[in-house]
Amino acid sequence: MVLQDLGRRLTAAISSVSGHSALDEQASLALDAVLKSVSAALLESDVNVALVKRTRDRVKKQVLPQLEELQAKSTSANQDHDPLAGNKAKQLIHKAMQPVKGKSQVIMMVGLQGAGKTTTCTKLATHYQRRGLKVALVCADTFRAGAFDQLKQNATRAKVPFFGSYTETDPVSISLQGVQKFRAERFDVIIVDTSGRHRQETELFHEMEQIQDAVEPDMTVLVLDGAIGQAAEAQSRAFKEASNFGAIIVTKLDGHAKGGGAISAVAATSTPIIFLGVGEHLHDLEKFSPRPFVSKLLGMGDMQGLVERAQEMALADPARQENMMKKLEKGEFTVRDLKDQLQTVMNMGPLSNLTSMIPGMSDMLGGAGGEGEAARRMKRVAFIFDSMTTAELDSDGSMFRDDPKDKKAIEARDKDKKGKGKEVAAKSKGKENVSPAAGDSSDGDSDEADEAGGGDVDPLGGREPNARVLRVARGSGTSVQEVEELLSQHLMFAKMAKRMGGKNGMMSKLAARGGP
Ligand code: GDP
Repeated sequence: MVLQDLGRRLTAAISSVSGHSALDEQASLALDAVLKSVSAALLESDVNVALVKRTRDRVKKQVLPQLEELQAKSTSANQDHDPLAGNKAKQLIHKAMQPVKGKSQVIMMVGLQGAGKTTTCTKLATHYQRRGLKVALVCADTFRAGAFDQLKQNATRAKVPFFGSYTETDPVSISLQGVQKFRAERFDVIIVDTSGRHRQETELFHEMEQIQDAVEPDMTVLVLDGAIGQAAEAQSRAFKEASNFGAIIVTKLDGHAKGGGAISAVAATSTPIIFLGVGEHLHDLEKFSPRPFVSKLLGMGDMQGLVERAQEMALADPARQENMMKKLEKGEFTVRDLKDQLQTVMNMGPLSNLTSMIPGMSDMLGGAGGEGEAARRMKRVAFIFDSMTTAELDSDGSMFRDDPKDKKAIEARDKDKKGKGKEVAAKSKGKENVSPAAGDSSDGDSDEADEAGGGDVDPLGGREPNARVLRVARGSGTSVQEVEELLSQHLMFAKMAKRMGGKNGMMSKLAARGGP
């Protein structure tokens, strides 16, 4: 995939720059190579040509003096990979998108038909409803037959009150009636869904202006299809002129959509993205932050998004949340917790969305492209957990990093190494202590484990694998490398849990902050 490819290209290119101890001509050439690589990948991801050029010049202007400074300090680079989205956009997010109780705030949604407006209206309503606000929807799309039915259906599913009409044909009148009704009923958030199609663009824009004049929204939001690519710039400019929207929601970023178009829209209209649509379901809405977005674009993961998604899930199961919070407050994170979290992740929605949020996860899944491939690999991870004992699952994982003491297992592995030939491998079948989860694949995969441990490329760096790791790899029919990778993921999470724990930890701060 282009974006994941970009991550790899970038990493390789950055290594080539950081390999230079002095900012010599070679380093400068290497920097050019990085920028060329990044520019090419951004263009392939539908980012606008002029924007790529501007960004390239800006990065160059920013990076060169920084490199000189770094060189002087002899420290490693701590690059801000946020040159595209910018901090200004973050600060611009309007207060209206963080509604409060007791003050009826009107949010008007605009965008072309099919962009995902109606779906996003309900997602947004659910988002605010979950935060304890009283939310209602108004359907002002009288143009598309069935628009009201669709909103009605979505709203009913989400248990959100709605207003619309089968007979009234004037969208201005409907939206005004709806907003007035819900204002009188003291709703906190009133979301107005408008039409996205007209025979003439000018008609559509004129209608939008009239609705805006009538309902005086606190915020107008442009809903932009993430898959429109280069067209994003012109479309967002046109809507900006007509409706002066104050925020953008980019939809359909769950599929193969290239997020680059969204960046062009932000740049063209100087308007921040506030949410991303990442699926067709009610909860498939992610709060937007420039840094994780760019991180994800570059295949670097999005921990913040993951924490937020996990919190959303936790809201649905308070007992489980309380349990997890208690553990995190103490800074604890056992192997079983990772197992549970991955199980939760699997219940959280399309796997491909989520794996890209976890740093290193897509690499762990071998950059698994399709949903099926990711699921297949996730199953292997489940086999690994299934091959662990209760004590191992409830441990902090350190027993997997102890020196290999279990002589039996080491002997078994050495025996395996000697018998790498097929006939010897066949003989050893049945003698090993293999759990039923491994099934018939144990032979083939123990070869794989051997390759990982003793082949040309040695991921363990010549280190003896821990006996438990070895046993789990065998039992699960996976390789030592896969088990080690999973355990290093656990170690990373456990370290994070430690940092989050305690009174001043991130958990207490997150809990205190609440969110929009
Ligand atoms: P509208 O014409 O702008 O109101 O668009 P709709 O809300 O009717 O959406 C058009 C189609 O896009 C529908 O089939 C939605 O299910 C789908 N859709 C909307 N948002 C998303 C999203 O974030 N991801 C995916 N995969 N589909 C979406």
